[in-house]
Amino acid sequence: MKKNAINNKLKFYTAGDYINIFCKKQYKNYYLRGEAHKFIADLGDTEICKYLADINPDIAPGIVYYNTIIFALVNDEYQKRVKKNTHEYYPQVFIGNTKEDFLIFDMYLSNSREILYFKENFKEFYKHCEKDTLIIDLEDADIIENSYLNESIESKKDIILLSIDIIFDRIESTTYDLFKERYPKKNYPLLAYYFSKNADLGLDRFEDYELIYSFISELYSFIYHCFDYAYDEKKYHKMLEDIGNVCLEWLNQQKITNRYLNSLNSFKNCQTSDADPLTRFCNNFFYELINDLKNQKMIKQCQFCDCGDFFKYKENKKYCSQKYEGKDCARTVSNKRYYERHKEEIKPKARKLMKEQRECYKKYGIKK
Ligand SMILES: [Zn+2]
Repeated sequence: MKKNAINNKLKFYTAGDYINIFCKKQYKNYYLRGEAHKFIADLGDTEICKYLADINPDIAPGIVYYNTIIFALVNDEYQKRVKKNTHEYYPQVFIGNTKEDFLIFDMYLSNSREILYFKENFKEFYKHCEKDTLIIDLEDADIIENSYLNESIESKKDIILLSIDIIFDRIESTTYDLFKERYPKKNYPLLAYYFSKNADLGLDRFEDYELIYSFISELYSFIYHCFDYAYDEKKYHKMLEDIGNVCLEWLNQQKITNRYLNSLNSFKNCQTSDADPLTRFCNNFFYELINDLKNQKMIKQCQFCDCGDFFKYKENKKYCSQKYEGKDCARTVSNKRYYERHKEEIKPKARKLMKEQRECYKKYGIKK
């Protein structure tokens, strides 16, 4: 919710443009820094074209606009290190703890240095820097305090990645109504059409640095170089593909089968609540699909907190049932509640029973 509020304040000129975000308050001796970028997805470029042509050969696909926001914590050591670093492939990002520092740094920039994944001239980038900044409150960044963050602070990292978000901005198309089922105004179609195993890319109408496809596919190497981030690159691309596959299947079939529910549930069960920012970035696409399916009354989620499985939507159903899901979660919940209410009576009884059982074994010479 807060990221959307920030998004509303971002004033971009065009695709490829970006804005530096600052915060006046510090977080545990770190400064909060953000970078927001504007990207496009060209609906005329990908496999979606084939689907659209099936619906109507005269369809005009159009362009989708997305904004991305990356948040990080930085400190003085980082600023010293990054300003000194002139390595060609090392991205100079999150420069300046504060807006004032950032504007001063502008003077020291050379003309030729490029940012790794935007391939844009630095001088050009900083030309608008006074206008291209935004000041936010610390609370707006929604900092998640988990073991990843605690370990990063404890090991005294000079830059810590906090979050990466994509925010859907708008679609420009004269015939959008004709294909909105296949391209809902969400983020998850990106993974379906660009990263699933069936993705057939023909990206050539725009420059790389303008395309959201390049942002997602090069995100790993950007994070690896900039944040010294220990993560498996193959795992990142595998996650994009796996989530892309379930998203594409929904967009193509628009049907909830048992097999499809199984793949949703097995993906959900692999996730932990204590994930690092890159895993959270990938998972957000999945949970966006899930929310979409819930809102469209296609699926529901079992309310037993130890389960949380998805099942086909039924008006009054709250838990998995023996008949359809092979487990009776309502019963497990009521047993658990009964135990919670009566545990003081149940425990001594159980102990007494065990004592009697042991005595009985002893009496009959059974070794246990
Ligand atoms: Zn359940």
